Amino acid sequence: MTCTLGPSSSSASVIQDLSDNGMSVSRLNFSHVPRGDYAYSSDIISNVRGCEGMHCRVLQRGYNMTAVLLDTKGPEIRTGVVEGYVSGEKNLYVELEDGKEVLVTTDERMREKVTSSTLYLDYKQIGSTVTPGDVLLLDDGLIGLEVTAVSDGKTGDDGEEYCEVNCIVKNGGALGSVKGVNIPNTTLQLPSMTEKDKEDILWGIRSNEIDIVAASFVRKASDVRTVKAYLERCISRAKADGDLKDGDDVVRPAIISKIENKEGVDNFEEILAESDGIMVARGDLGVEIPFADLLILQKKMVRLCNLAGKPVIVATQMLDSMQRNPRPTRAEVTDVGNAVLDGADCVMLSGESANGNYPVVAAKTMQTIVAMADDALDSRRGYSNIGQRRAEMYDAISKNASTLESICSAAVQMASQTDADIIIAISRKGSTVKSLAKFRPNVPIMAFVPTPSIGRRLILHRGVYPIVMSATATDDEHERVVEAVRTAKEIGWLKPNHRVVVVDAELWGLESTKVKTKANCIKIFTV
Ligand code: PEP
Repeated sequence: MTCTLGPSSSSASVIQDLSDNGMSVSRLNFSHVPRGDYAYSSDIISNVRGCEGMHCRVLQRGYNMTAVLLDTKGPEIRTGVVEGYVSGEKNLYVELEDGKEVLVTTDERMREKVTSSTLYLDYKQIGSTVTPGDVLLLDDGLIGLEVTAVSDGKTGDDGEEYCEVNCIVKNGGALGSVKGVNIPNTTLQLPSMTEKDKEDILWGIRSNEIDIVAASFVRKASDVRTVKAYLERCISRAKADGDLKDGDDVVRPAIISKIENKEGVDNFEEILAESDGIMVARGDLGVEIPFADLLILQKKMVRLCNLAGKPVIVATQMLDSMQRNPRPTRAEVTDVGNAVLDGADCVMLSGESANGNYPVVAAKTMQTIVAMADDALDSRRGYSNIGQRRAEMYDAISKNASTLESICSAAVQMASQTDADIIIAISRKGSTVKSLAKFRPNVPIMAFVPTPSIGRRLILHRGVYPIVMSATATDDEHERVVEAVRTAKEIGWLKPNHRVVVVDAELWGLESTKVKTKANCIKIFTV
């Protein structure tokens, strides 16, 4: 479960409670972090790192494996500041009334002068993006404007070019400052990352505390490649500047592409191929496309991620009413459960944990629903299509399987045939673990990994529980397996008569010739 951390959940004690109640990924939403202001985020991260993980109380070396996810603000469009509003003071609103005319402008001089008849927008290319009849949706779609005329290429007395768009208010409401704007069914001319995104990511890399970057408003595969290349450049820069040192546990953060508009949906398969995982960001997506389309799109995206073996997060408004109430609505309960039955690896809390009155109760509630749905995933009971999904996966690898896929699919089948209790994967970089998770075993995968960074990047995959092996075990094939089984016993995952399937890479004494190999053997033990 991913929990967004914010004012309701930034303290060490609430973070510990969230961790105890199923939070495996803590999300920092940089849409709400002012440019260059990192003190608050640093404090939250040290509280995350400081809390005890599920095995700390049993294992001497029990790391907290909660991953930290930096969610970028992304190239989004925002309105200006309501005239008279002073930052830090009580919100001011302007009332946009149904049927009234509004002038939308990109004139910088109007940035802080939003009124009920003039609205600044920070998207310079709006003139070449919209035509009469198009719709602008403000503040998560709560307010709708219809474009009636566009005048591009105006020049102010300051010499700056700007554009004006005349609109009619279709559904009005109170508009505050700097609200998000969606323009459905258009192709936006925006960069993959803004300057703020770049600064935020560089800060994250320098701190070496970010495990996952969620890239907002990904529209095409090249957006993901741009973020990947930028992350690599940041790592080199942080090393050159001495922020990251030799011997530090440095791994490039996983990239989760947020699908939140039509272009992202249209280019989904090429985006998935470049990404480490996907977030079905239903908040913006549900405004950018007809909301009824969300139902099937969510299922399609989840299925394609499952087949590709990449983790997928289903996000936004999952337990929305729990911002205000300690009990979820019945619709919310089934929404969370159905996401799990669809095949989601992870479900997410947003405002519920960041701003709501019941952050820990919301996490506990989500964990209860997830556990129930997870239990029902067994295909024989017919509640989900997971059996069909597995069959599709086995079919896809029936011919050109890699050694890794062949070993991992066989291990998952063996675990099911022998009614094993857990699968232990001994993994250097995580690829064995990802491949095992792809075949959706119905028992947990204990990922025995060399470093916390490698483990935390695996946590998004369904059913994966990373444990860091001791330094002495890393070099010795036999000792690694012995230690993994001993650890599983210590933490209570293996009890007498339990069966375990172990997947490992063995070199049979070939280390000296520097032979590198991926997983190549499976062992079964009964404890
Ligand atoms: C969303 O739109 O659903 C989402 C997760 O993104 P954000 O919270 O950044 O708007």
